[in-house]
Amino acid sequence: MEVSLTINYIISTDKDNFWNSENGRLLDEIDSRLDEIFPQELALPNVTSAQFNRRSYIPLREGKNAVKCVVCNNWCCIPKEEYKAEGLSHCRIVNGAPFCESCFWELKEEIADGSFFEK
Ligand SMILES: [Zn+2]
Repeated sequence: MEVSLTINYIISTDKDNFWNSENGRLLDEIDSRLDEIFPQELALPNVTSAQFNRRSYIPLREGKNAVKCVVCNNWCCIPKEEYKAEGLSHCRIVNGAPFCESCFWELKEEIADGSFFEK
């Protein structure tokens, strides 16, 4: 069996402090630091092999590829949009209100019967 492990960070920075504006790549110092922080292989109990696969960096553009959940205020992605922010919960929009998967699951009865929107 193979398992994809995703660890997600929300980074707040000016884009010029993260990407090189001339070539669109990560700044060398950011790239080097990420290589230092995240090893190429993880040693985990009862796991034969845990190899690095890939990193991705997607700018969060509110209302374009991501929105904040109306309940917990965490980012969630709009799955149908281009440049989907991997690692974020998928967003469900009900009556124009975005819900992350966790909040949608916890409140699904109140959302379905409309009582959530009466608050
Ligand atoms: Zn939520």
